[in-house]
Amino acid sequence: MKIVLIVCDGMGDRSTKALNGLTPLQAANAPTFNRIASLGECGIMDVISPGQPPGSDTAHLAIFGYDPYTQYSGRGAYEALGAGIELRPGDVAFRCNFATVNNEDIVIDRRAGRITSDEAKILADALKDIKLEDVEPIFVSTTEHRGVLVLRGERLSRMVSDIDVHEVGVKIGKPKPLEDSKEAERTSKILEEFVSKARKILENHPLNKERIAKGLLPANAVLPRGAGTLPNVKPISELWDIRAAAIAGGALYKGVAKALGFDIINVPGATGTVNTNLKGKVDYAINALKTYDLVFLHIKATDTVSHDKNPVKKKEVIEWISSGITPLLDFVEAQDYYLVLTADHTTPSEVGEHRGDPVPVAIVGPNVRKDWTERFDEISCARGGLCRIRGADLIRILMNYLGKVPLFGE
Ligand code: ZN
Ligand code: ZN
Repeated sequence: MKIVLIVCDGMGDRSTKALNGLTPLQAANAPTFNRIASLGECGIMDVISPGQPPGSDTAHLAIFGYDPYTQYSGRGAYEALGAGIELRPGDVAFRCNFATVNNEDIVIDRRAGRITSDEAKILADALKDIKLEDVEPIFVSTTEHRGVLVLRGERLSRMVSDIDVHEVGVKIGKPKPLEDSKEAERTSKILEEFVSKARKILENHPLNKERIAKGLLPANAVLPRGAGTLPNVKPISELWDIRAAAIAGGALYKGVAKALGFDIINVPGATGTVNTNLKGKVDYAINALKTYDLVFLHIKATDTVSHDKNPVKKKEVIEWISSGITPLLDFVEAQDYYLVLTADHTTPSEVGEHRGDPVPVAIVGPNVRKDWTERFDEISCARGGLCRIRGADLIRILMNYLGKVPLFGE
């Protein structure tokens, strides 16, 4: 018995004016999604708890059966793992942006004039020269202006404030300890030292002088945020005695899965964007089901177009995904495996930000209590047999189908 868990990021939505009062899922012509609803047991899911807008990181922790309130240890660690850094216990990791600041250290552009991945890599290499007392800094650029910083050493803490405050026109601040501990105080000082040394190296870097000469904004600062450490949790494989694999484009999703003990399957052309290689991801997922008991397939595009406030495009992306996953549903049906379709949170495409509304969920597989739901959308699924569940319940419900949940009592 095997399970494929498909999570379309931010796919949940609300009734939308641009779609005549329908949600993008309701408005979409998505026959495979509707086939999943017709074959399956449907419901809606409060991923964290009713009304709580989840981040993608805490949402995935919950969906994988972990308690986000006690087992979340900051986003930076997931980004670092997703970028391929072998994090160690004690390391503190940050997400970073290359940014443009003026002579008064006021942020002009948080994306450094949309610097390319190749340019960012050259600048990241220059930052390797930074030496800090007792602590080894590891800096890696990921895509475009984004990167990851890891501080490796003794007595470090993730309880330090962000330097990137997500705003332009403000002065880059000093990191502050977020708790009264020597470790947090020490980490703030070390982070401040890294940022100031990076500032000097970048200001004088030939690549930035070239950019200025071309009339482009220089990438003359690194702004860290989202300090995180490896979560101290049992891997999902041990918790449920299963083999688990993850297929995703975005670094964050690979990182969360890796931190929880999933094997990561890299698919060529899986970018975590609307231009991702969906066919490749689906082919690899089918193949992975030969080896693994649980295959997690993440698709980011639904969230991206929601942040862009584009409900019509979201409807089209849903239609594209529905059509793209058809071979996977065919395979699962033929093999009598389980398939789950859901989202990690609602991102209303008129709002453009995550919200706490529940998401639809459907489970297809041998002997599931097929209900009367015929369409996969927020409203139809609300009448289904699963009713309204919490994100943290999902894995137990699935493991119950696999016969993996021990009896309680006698
Ligand atoms: Zn998300
Ligand atoms: Zn999002």
